[in-house]
Amino acid sequence: MSGLARYTTRKILRISSDSEIPLIGCIAFGLIDRGTNLIQVRPITTCPLSCIFCSTDAGPHSRNRQTEYVIDDLDYIVEEFRKIVAFKGPKHIEAHIDTVGDPLTYPKLVDLVQELATTPGVEVISLQTHGVLLTEKLVEELDSAGLSRINLSIDALDPELAKFLSNTPSYDVEKIVRIAEYIAKSTNIDLLIAPVWVPGLNDKEIPKIIELALKIGAGKKWPPLGIQKYIPHKRGRKPRNIKPMSWSEFYRRLQILEKRYDVKLILRPSDFGIHKRKSIKAPFKIGEIVRAKVVAPGWLKNEIIATARGFCITVVRASLEQFPIGTEVFVRILKTKHNILIGKIA
Ligand code: SF4
Repeated sequence: MSGLARYTTRKILRISSDSEIPLIGCIAFGLIDRGTNLIQVRPITTCPLSCIFCSTDAGPHSRNRQTEYVIDDLDYIVEEFRKIVAFKGPKHIEAHIDTVGDPLTYPKLVDLVQELATTPGVEVISLQTHGVLLTEKLVEELDSAGLSRINLSIDALDPELAKFLSNTPSYDVEKIVRIAEYIAKSTNIDLLIAPVWVPGLNDKEIPKIIELALKIGAGKKWPPLGIQKYIPHKRGRKPRNIKPMSWSEFYRRLQILEKRYDVKLILRPSDFGIHKRKSIKAPFKIGEIVRAKVVAPGWLKNEIIATARGFCITVVRASLEQFPIGTEVFVRILKTKHNILIGKIA
């Protein structure tokens, strides 16, 4: 199997500037501005893993997704990104490539990093990945292209537990650790190790992962670790019989580990230079009914994507059988937070 079909049997929608699909409004792809100097860049949705705790239900074992998207047209996403940078003010911008899958599946990733790096005002380019597709050669290419940091998720060092958590028999954590060492030694890329702490499953792994990060020299410029709390999501995957930690319990445990290892584990946006910045405002009000045009199948089953006023709106409880591409529909806006627009047929 070749191309993106390696990662999914679902329909792959290729997006270009001719597709009439805006790159703001849908959580699954494009660009997200949450009112800080960080812009999330989401060029693709596919993932080679199927982690049992995945909040976005990504990968080959996904049950809720119906479509994967790839922004084939590099110029399109770069131009739209640059418009947002210009709007926000071209200084101290971080481009954070953090998809609802794994960005390493994006065939034009190195070119994308290079284009982001040469955008005036962009000072940091970071990437969130589980690293399965990383090779030494790719690390070198990303290094030369201008990548600043890799947030690498390693959830367990025990090989069998790591396979279980990733729900992927071929997952080889020892290879990922070798790549982590290689990143830590690279010229420009900083390494942050970002395990998801799933209580009852990888508690004993977390101290080992901290020791690994400190041993290999992660965190030259930014903190070496970004431990994430497992949070069950409505349409994500939830491991059986796991009770999530409360936030207070999570911070209490991090505090204990901070003292034991003398390392900062409770992080704030300011640790990464993130600050508030003016945000794009989608011109919609909650409850408003807007005329929109159907342009694509939705990311999840029983959803479609429509566009209005230059934004994508995810329309829930609707299908292309009911409302084919090109149909005009009236949509009631349900959510607008961070310009991620959700609506339903009015
Ligand atoms: S947690 Fe990340 S690597 Fe794992 S399936 Fe989800 S998107 Fe893929």
